[in-house]
Amino acid sequence: MSRGKFFQSVSKYFDRAAALSTVKSGMLRQVKTCNAVYRMRFPVREDNGEITVVEAFRAEHSFHRLPAKGGIRFSRRVSLDETIALAALMSYKCAIVGVPFGGAKGGVAVNPATISAGFRERVTRRYTAELIRKNFIGPDIDVPAPDYGTGEREMGWIADTYKNLRMNEPHTYACVTGKPLGMQGIPGRRQATGLGVYYGIRTFMEQAEDMKAVGLSPGVAGKRVIVQGLGNVGYHAAHFLQNDGKAVIVGIIEREGGLYAPDGMDVESVHRHRRETGTLQGFPGATFIEDGQSVLENDCDVLVPAALEEQITAENAGRIQAKIVAEAANGPVGFDGEAILSQRGIHMLPDLYLNAGGVTVSYFEWLKNRAGVSFDRMVSRHEELTKIGLVEAIESLTGRDIPSPARQQLVHGVSEEDMVIAALDQTMIQSFHQIHYRWKSRNLADLRTAAFLLGIERIADSYAQHGIFP
Ligand code: NAD
Repeated sequence: MSRGKFFQSVSKYFDRAAALSTVKSGMLRQVKTCNAVYRMRFPVREDNGEITVVEAFRAEHSFHRLPAKGGIRFSRRVSLDETIALAALMSYKCAIVGVPFGGAKGGVAVNPATISAGFRERVTRRYTAELIRKNFIGPDIDVPAPDYGTGEREMGWIADTYKNLRMNEPHTYACVTGKPLGMQGIPGRRQATGLGVYYGIRTFMEQAEDMKAVGLSPGVAGKRVIVQGLGNVGYHAAHFLQNDGKAVIVGIIEREGGLYAPDGMDVESVHRHRRETGTLQGFPGATFIEDGQSVLENDCDVLVPAALEEQITAENAGRIQAKIVAEAANGPVGFDGEAILSQRGIHMLPDLYLNAGGVTVSYFEWLKNRAGVSFDRMVSRHEELTKIGLVEAIESLTGRDIPSPARQQLVHGVSEEDMVIAALDQTMIQSFHQIHYRWKSRNLADLRTAAFLLGIERIADSYAQHGIFP
């Protein structure tokens, strides 16, 4: 994949939607432009004592709301263009799901599959120190989160580094989200992006007319799904599609190849097998195909690319057999690939909506860190007491006791995780309908154009309200 392709695709998607908006051209330029980038190179000691110079980036695409927000990616292939494209998607994504943040993204050019834990920690802490030095991180400035190749552990190192260098600031842990629970993380963040992907697919597949248009019956249950990437997003998306949605997972693709089983395979067993053996190969009950990329083209109803960008291009789009492509990753369908899929009547659920569950729950974590109190602390017992009162009234009116397990379930007070998951569910449903409404009422080509349009208009409104363009 050429490095500039992803950036070009995002720009073209933007331009296509922008041409349909009523926003004036100067404002459109401001919405599109990346406002600040920091490109850095710093030395890090390898485990053998050698010095390696690491290249890294942070792009702050928009400041119409502060802080700017976006993950940090560890990948050998990160580039400035890629980081800017990902930061731009963050701006539109936040606007679409009503998260009051600007967009940002970070990239560190290291190979997450091969670096040691020690090197990883040294890189993460040094990168954080660099961001602090230039004011590219802070609870009110720019708040990173996990992305490809990073997770809770790295976010914990970032929080710790920030806290130690900025002792005098209030709520320092709000400088980053996706932290471990013991470091003021929030329950539900780990699975949030994948769960949001499931909620988005489920909501789309409930639309009987749209399903008819792609030749499927409504609902996720029984639909055959292929997932590419069994990392944070892909694993959780597959898990919820299988367990909550009752979908049949017929294909799973990773770096080393793909598994295909027309009758389905159990996601947990595949995940365990790969964890234990380091490869998908040898998993019983499914065929292993060394050319994982070719499994994208196998027969299925829904294809969920959840690894990297530009996976479906003009080269392979003509051979995709799925009826729906659900973009769990950022930018998995290139602009030219999209044109071919659209022509063939394949519907796409766009990344800037579908994978917004992560930033939605990150927003809740940031709010919690600033408030200094967990969401359930003030309501859980009160709710439990109210429910007990209600259950006792029903029992006394009917003269019958509700049996114990059912009673327990009825009276339990809401947990922080319950609140987070319910709010995520609501966000994904509401945002879907806002995009879907635009798609239909303005007779737009597709959901992606509708999503970009919604994002552009909201950001332009926000700039206007804040007097950037009086
Ligand atoms: P991750 O590092 O947890 O997982 C990525 C997985 O993809 C890994 O298991 C890796 O081995 C696999 N992979 C790499 N190359 C592959 C290939 N050629 N074919 C198949 N699999 C391959 O990363 P993640 O956090 O799950 O992110 C995945 C995508 O989702 C990225 O595009 C990221 O930007 C996007 N995303 C992530 C989040 C989040 O909260 N983590 C939020 C929004 C979007």
